[in-house]
Amino acid sequence: MEVNIMIRYGELSTKGKNKKNFIQQLAYNVKKALRNFPSVKVRPEYDFMYLDLNGALEHEVLPYLEHVFGIQSYSPVYKVDKDFSQLSKQVVQLLADRDLENKTFKIAAKRSDHEFYMDTQELNLALGQVVLQAYPQLSVRMKQPDIQIKVDVRREAIYVSTQVYKGAGGLPVGTSGRGMMMLSGGIDSPVASYLALKRGLDIEMVHFYSPPYTSPQSLRKTQELTKKLAKYGGTIQFIEVPFTKIQEAIKANCPDTYLMTLTRRFMLRITDELRQKRKGLVILNGESIGQVASQTLHSMIAINEVTNTPILRPVAAMDKLEIIQIAEQIDTFELSIQPFEDCCTVFAPPSPKTKPNLDKVHHYEEKLDVDALIQEAVNHVKIYPISSDTSFEEDTKDMDELL
Ligand code: ATP
Ligand code: MG
Repeated sequence: MEVNIMIRYGELSTKGKNKKNFIQQLAYNVKKALRNFPSVKVRPEYDFMYLDLNGALEHEVLPYLEHVFGIQSYSPVYKVDKDFSQLSKQVVQLLADRDLENKTFKIAAKRSDHEFYMDTQELNLALGQVVLQAYPQLSVRMKQPDIQIKVDVRREAIYVSTQVYKGAGGLPVGTSGRGMMMLSGGIDSPVASYLALKRGLDIEMVHFYSPPYTSPQSLRKTQELTKKLAKYGGTIQFIEVPFTKIQEAIKANCPDTYLMTLTRRFMLRITDELRQKRKGLVILNGESIGQVASQTLHSMIAINEVTNTPILRPVAAMDKLEIIQIAEQIDTFELSIQPFEDCCTVFAPPSPKTKPNLDKVHHYEEKLDVDALIQEAVNHVKIYPISSDTSFEEDTKDMDELL
C-alpha cells in the first residue's frame, strides 16, 4: 500500500501575504530534517504539505518531523484502490496494531470524485459496520472520537488516514530573522535557545570561554548542548570567543564586586559586534529576573547600557522550575548540570553588586583599553557549524567523561 505523509501548517495558515515564504522555509527545513532519506520528495501546497516517501519507511521518517517548528500536526496517508472491499481490508489492517480497548471512532468520508459508486453517507455507514465487526471493542462517537478515520475519495485513488501526530507548533526556523544567542553551559540559555527557535528565529550561538581557567570539557559541553538544539534548528553556527585576556584585564584592574558587571558588559559589546558582522537583528540570552546577582533589574540596566540592540530574554519571566521542566523535555538538563566551570563562575566574586553604580562602572572601564580588547577577541573567534549529527571525534575521551 502506497503511503504519503500529510503535514498541516498550524499558525502559518494565518500569515496572509507572507504565507508563501513561510511554506517555502518550512519545506526547506523539512528537507533538511529528512536529509538521511534521499528518496522522500517534499511537495508543498497552499494548505498542506505532502511527503512522497518513495519507498522510505514511514515509521523511520515520522520521528524526524516531531521537532520541526511550524508543523501543527501530521498524518500518514495511505493510497488505496477505488474499490470498497479493498478499502475495508486496508482500514481493518491499519487499525490492527493499535490499542483499541474501550476506544471510540468515527468515519469521516469525503468525495471529490462524484462518480464513485458510493456517496459519503453510504461510505460512512458501510465502513463503520466493517470496523465494528472487526473490532467489537470499539464504539462509534461523532464528537471528539479517539480515532478519526478519514477517507478521501479522489479521481485517481482513495486516500485513508487513521492517525494524527501532534507537531512541534511554533514558526518555521528562519522566518523571523537572525539573532545572536549568548550560550553558556547552564540550564537557562539552552531553554532560551529552544524558545527562540520555536518562534522562528535563526540563531547563532556565541560562547565565551577562558582557557586555561575553563577546561576543554566545558567548551565541549556547550557544543553538545548546541547539538541537542540543532535537532530543532537544523545546522547552527557556533562562535567561540576567546575571553581569557579580557577577564584577566578586568581582574587586574577593577574591584571584585564589579567583576561580574564589567564582564557582562564586555560579553554584550562583543556579541553586538558579531551580530553586526553576521547580519543578526537581535541578541538573546538566558537571563531570568532575580535569579542571580547579574539578573536584578538594576544589574540588567547597567549591563544593557552598552547597546541599543534589542535583547530578547525568552526565559525572563519564568520560574526556575518551569525552565527545568522544558530543559528536561528537550533533553538538555542532564548535560547542563554537569559540573564544568563557566568562565563567569571561575572569576565570580563572593559578593557581586546587585545594584551596580554606573559612574563607578565607567570609571573602572577607563582603566581598560576596552576597544582594543574587544577587537582582539572578535578577530580571534572560531566559527563552525554544528548539526544534530556532528560528532566531536577528535576528543572522544573528553566526551566520554562528559556523558
Ligand atoms: P545559564 O543557565 O544560561 O548559564 P545562569 O543562571 O548560569 O544562566 P548567568 O551565569 O548569570 O546565569 O548567565 C546569564 C546569561 O548570560 C546566560 O543565560 C547566557 O545567556 C549569558 N552567559 C553567561 N555566561 C556565558 C558564556 N560563557 N558565554 C556566553 N553567554 C554567557
Ligand atoms: Mg551560567
